[in-house]
Amino acid sequence: MKRILITGGAGFIGSHHVRSLLDDAYPDWAGAHVTVLDKLTYAGNRSNIPTHHPRLTFVRGDICDDALLRELLPGHDAVIHFAAESHVDRSLESAEEFVRTNVVGTQRLLDAVLATGVGRVVHVSTDEVYGSIEEGSWTEEWPLAPNSPYSASKASSDLLARSYWRTHGLDLSVTRCSNNYGPYQHPEKLIPLFVTNLLEGVRVPLYGDGGNVREWLHVDDHCRAIDLVLNNGRAGEIYNIGGGNERTNVAITRSVLELTGQDWSRVRRVADRKAHDLRYSLDDTKIREELGYAPRIPFEEGLAATVAWYQDHPDWWKGTKLRTVAE
Ligand code: NAD
Repeated sequence: MKRILITGGAGFIGSHHVRSLLDDAYPDWAGAHVTVLDKLTYAGNRSNIPTHHPRLTFVRGDICDDALLRELLPGHDAVIHFAAESHVDRSLESAEEFVRTNVVGTQRLLDAVLATGVGRVVHVSTDEVYGSIEEGSWTEEWPLAPNSPYSASKASSDLLARSYWRTHGLDLSVTRCSNNYGPYQHPEKLIPLFVTNLLEGVRVPLYGDGGNVREWLHVDDHCRAIDLVLNNGRAGEIYNIGGGNERTNVAITRSVLELTGQDWSRVRRVADRKAHDLRYSLDDTKIREELGYAPRIPFEEGLAATVAWYQDHPDWWKGTKLRTVAE
């Protein structure tokens, strides 16, 4: 039986990947055993993945815990590394935890992978490592110019990961994806924050003039792309994963207002985020041509389904919102 270890598998994207693996959505890993290593920070939620499943082992632990990594990793065929501190706004308040988990944690994980002989690694990075682009789109060769402590810590781990391929010959690929949306996303992030605020009758905070542009991709398309890279991606290569759905924050706000039956009076303008990147845009020709990737979920359809999911799961997000405020 194949074995795969997922770091951060109780978070938004990691848990989607875990549920998909357990549902045998990825043929190359059908029937595989899944080990999840997750610290369950404020962002992780044990209920995002099954409590009991014959092919799932859940371990609550830290990717910085070297002894734990060396105990857990032997016998695994692959690792997908999702675990990270992931919220830009939090990194503006304090960068400490971002450096610890995203940089030191990745280095410890990669060392433990080398020491225990795990065959294959996908490091999940982000388009934010490129900085901001006014026109055109980033290819994988674009220089990195991250602007927030979050994106700088991700750029550091992304470069460290590639260096373990170059230096040690680790069979590793890096993915850089655009903004994800979908069910189980923590309500601190833009779309779930706006949807859950509107469902609670609270106004939504829109940064600055709302003209910032992001490229949106459904989490299911991101995870399918990661699976393609895991199975067929070349070692030492970077793969951009885009959605092609560029939207301003104003446009996203209008869509969410419409889907929840509300109007612009529910919007509260707030001071812009420090060093707020204006626009992200990926050129993902490489993964499309080399691995046959294409997103499947049209944005309007995916967004409507996501809003419906939050409408149908108040217990999930109300608990998460309360816990986060209490911290
Ligand atoms: P998330 O914040 O929802 O989940 C992160 C998970 O990692 C949580 O379950 C948390 O408990 C766990 N974690 C944090 N620190 C840990 C540690 N020290 N040890 C073990 N586990 C720890 O994040 P997400 O949105 O699911 O993002 C997953 C990955 O994808 C991240 O690496 C992120 O940078 C990347 N990414 C995210 C997006 C996006 O739009 N959300 C886009 C591109 C790339």
